[in-house]
This record gives sequence, structure tokens and C-alpha cells, in this order.
Amino acid sequence: RAKDRGKNNFQFYSAYMSQHAAKMLALESSLRRAIEREELVLYYQGKVETRTGRISGVESLVRWQHPELGLLSPDQFIPLAEETGLIVPLSKWVLREACKQVCEWQRQNLPPLNVAVNLSARQFVDDHLLEDTALVLRELGMDPTLLELEITESMMMHNPEHTIQILQGLKAMGIRIAIDDFGIGYSSLSHLRQFPIDIIKIDRSFIQDVPGDPADEAITEAIIAMGKSLKITVVAEGVEKPEQLQFLSDLSCEEIQGYFFSKPLPAKDFTKLLWRNLAPVAVPSRRPAAK
Ligand code: C2E
Ligand code: MG
Ligand code: MG
Ligand code: MG
Repeated sequence: RAKDRGKNNFQFYSAYMSQHAAKMLALESSLRRAIEREELVLYYQGKVETRTGRISGVESLVRWQHPELGLLSPDQFIPLAEETGLIVPLSKWVLREACKQVCEWQRQNLPPLNVAVNLSARQFVDDHLLEDTALVLRELGMDPTLLELEITESMMMHNPEHTIQILQGLKAMGIRIAIDDFGIGYSSLSHLRQFPIDIIKIDRSFIQDVPGDPADEAITEAIIAMGKSLKITVVAEGVEKPEQLQFLSDLSCEEIQGYFFSKPLPAKDFTKLLWRNLAPVAVPSRRPAAK
């Protein structure tokens, strides 16, 4: 009978739920330990000036070096961290680590490099963001203009008034603000004007099929044109092929990021890339190429 089946389903469901809950709990406690034991690592991906081939900045991307499961990507644990609140200590670690690394590159006398850090939705409603960020910058003696914080449209639109307030606070400190994954959210152009935005990163889903897909070409072109007229730097994400770079370069898109230039790398490997980039390959070299 339907009623019995319903009961059975409920039993299955609750068995599934408690299994799921147990799995979540186990992951939660191992993530908690991971933060304490420094099993988290940052990878770095360069942002490159289209015109010169110079690396102008770097985005920090977190990974979890799990003792049994290997290297986990953020999509495998950021949602859990958000759900459990562990995103707060995790994000603090990321911010400090990314800033420490950029200070370290400065100590090595590499050209000044911006560092971008992804913010989570939870951090954005947290009242301590301004304080925590100011503290890290102060402790490290870091120039705040080197720091970029990346937020998404959905984070901005969740509570626009609150967002404007926080962004203005960050701007007042000298920090720059980027909108990540731009184009897939719901922010309107009139909204955009109200936010103190410095950088827009075109979502890689639009870049994937350019040149070729007329709709994606038109959207990409429109975002680049809008950025120019609003004096916002436009970065294209997910550039993998030379044709994409050519297309973007023809539209004078200022910066690109993607596998074409480099995958995200551990700090040590990224440092080598920085030294090599002192004589970028995209421009006819004026200096003898660095060894
Ligand atoms: P995102 O901020 O949009 O970062 C770009 C993602 O695209 C990265 O994935 C990067 O590895 C990937 N990517 C870069 N170039 C290419 C390309 O040419 N082709 C393709 N197919 N992919 C490319 P990743 O590292 O797996 O990070 C995924 C997302 O996780 C990030 O998206 C960001 O939203 C989030 N995330 C990463 N690190 C952090 C963090 O420290 N805190 C928070 N809250 N979120 C983070
Ligand atoms: Mg990002
Ligand atoms: Mg993105
Ligand atoms: Mg993203």
C-alpha cells in the first residue's frame, strides 16, 4: 500500500540522511583540523596585460592537500566550509597567506604585483571583514593598493545597501574591488554604477566559444566597451587558446587570465614564472631574455 511504501521511503530517506550527516560531520572535523594543521595550500594564477604580456597581478586559489584524498579543489570543500561556518577561519588563513606571499615577492625585488583574494558570501555579511583585513595589512606592513578582493554579483545583490557600505570601507583603505564571474549573475548596469568597482572579470563561459559564437562575441564586446566607458579594468577569464587571446586583444581587453598563459601554480613554481616574465614573450624583447 502507498502508505507503507511512504513509510519505507521515509526509512530509506532517514537512513540516507543520517549517513549523509555522518559524512558531513567527518568532513567537517577533518576540515577543521586541516586549517589548524596547515593542510591548506594556495595556488597562484597570473593576470596578464594583453598589450605587453606582463604579469600585473595574481589570483590566489585555495586547495586542500588532504592526507588520504589528495589535492582537493575548492569546489570540493568551499561549499562545506560555507555551510559549517569554517569558511571564516579558512578565509582568514587565505587572506594572510596570500598577502604574506606578495610581500615575499616584493622582498625578492620582483616588480610590484597585485594579489587577488576571493571573498565568500559568508565573509561579506560578517561584520569583521574591514577590521580583519586592516589588521592583516597592518601586521605585514603591506601596501593596501596591492590587494584586490573578488566578489560575485550574487553577493552584491543579496543586500546592495550593505554591500555599498562595505565596499566603500574597503575602498577607503585603498583596496581594489573586482566582480568575479561577471555576466552570469543578475546585476543590472544601473546597479553596477552604484558600486565602487575597479575591475570586472568576464566569466569564462562567455570566453569559451569566442571567436565563433556570435552571441558570446557580442556579450564579450559589450562588457569590454562598458568597462572602458565606466573606467573599469576588464579581465577575461578562462583564456585557453591563441584565437581567444587574439580576439580579446583586437577588442583592447586589458587583461587576460587562463590556462593559455598558465594554470594555477604552487608559490614556488609561480615564483619561477615571475622571474621568467621579467622579459615577457608577447612583446619584442628590448632586454636580453632572462635565463
Ligand atoms: P574563480 O574565482 O572564478 O577562479 C577561477 C577558476 O577558474 C579557478 O578554479 C581556476 O583554476 C579556473 N581556471 C583558470 N583559468 C582557466 C582556464 O583557462 N580554463 C578553465 N577551464 N578553468 C580555468 P579553481 O581554482 O578550481 O577555483 C574555483 C572557484 O573556487 C573559484 O572561482 C572561486 O570562486 C572559489 N575559490 C577559490 N579559492 C577560494 C578562496 O580562497 N576563498 C573562497 N571563498 N573561494 C575560493
Ligand atoms: Mg576569482
Ligand atoms: Mg571567476
Ligand atoms: Mg567563481
